[in-house]
Amino acid sequence: MKLADTIVYTQGQFCSYADAHVGLLTHGLQYGTGCFEGIRGYWDAQERELYLVQLKEHFERLETSTKILMMRLPHSVAELSEIAVELCRRNNFEMDVYIRPFMFKSAEDIGVRLHDVPEQLAIVPVPFKPYLDASDGLRCCVSSWRRVDDACAPPRAKVTGLYVNSALAKSEAHLSGFDEAIMLSADGHVSEGSAENIFLVRHGVIYTPDPSQNILEGCTRRSVLHIAREEFNIPIVERAVDRGELYAAQEIFFTGTAVGIVHVGSVDHRRVGDGNVGPITRKIEQYYSRIVRGAEPRYRHWLTGVYGARRAPVGV
Ligand code: PMP
Repeated sequence: MKLADTIVYTQGQFCSYADAHVGLLTHGLQYGTGCFEGIRGYWDAQERELYLVQLKEHFERLETSTKILMMRLPHSVAELSEIAVELCRRNNFEMDVYIRPFMFKSAEDIGVRLHDVPEQLAIVPVPFKPYLDASDGLRCCVSSWRRVDDACAPPRAKVTGLYVNSALAKSEAHLSGFDEAIMLSADGHVSEGSAENIFLVRHGVIYTPDPSQNILEGCTRRSVLHIAREEFNIPIVERAVDRGELYAAQEIFFTGTAVGIVHVGSVDHRRVGDGNVGPITRKIEQYYSRIVRGAEPRYRHWLTGVYGARRAPVGV
């Protein structure tokens, strides 16, 4: 399917990607004054169903991001969820998908500010392409770039302009031969990857930076914390994590909508455990994979079925 032919949602209606335009001077493009989400849909070929994951959580986070940027979403979370489902239906997707809702300041003029600027919502769905090849474990480095601090701009909002921070770290890592970067916050504690939250395992305990460590409050992170606690009874500690703990950890994994749950094989040339996926990471990853493909009935409320007419509707 060509991107140009994809049905998107913009200016309150559905149209083809090729017919949707933004002007060169658009505020969100010039100043990064936009925010966005990334939502995954998993195709179940057997059931011929497409499951959208945690729609409510993602659109609630978009609502938070818009509030921080002094924007007002033109739809409720429930309406946005319906539009996302409708977009998948109109595109007849029968494959894994990635949905990108975004809202941006749409004035075409000069002058950086948040107030008194019109804004626009758009949602673009695309077929999903694997984000990182992690079969052998990701080779990571600690970035020389620090994670943007909440005192400068709030990283819990998924703000377009803040992704310069992620892009600097990611490209530095990639050009130095690594798969992914781990960013420290300004005070030297572990924050997160360029587009992933991070978890460490030591002596059967999961450690992850708490939300005050300038992380994006990830939807996958929240799901993983729930699964670890409720399904596997694994102790979890959310606190500031030292760089040295990355080297001492027996397992490290990333979570994110695009990457899913992937294990980190090494950090700064030091192997994590034996370099292979560890038992706790494996357990959580396998369970999460079952959930998002609709195989765990107790978690069906995390999913929204696109072609649900064939069965009872699930979730919002
Ligand atoms: N941190 C950053 C900086 C991200 O861009 C992402 C991806 N959205 C994440 C963490 C993971 O968040 P989620 O699980 O909601 O995709």
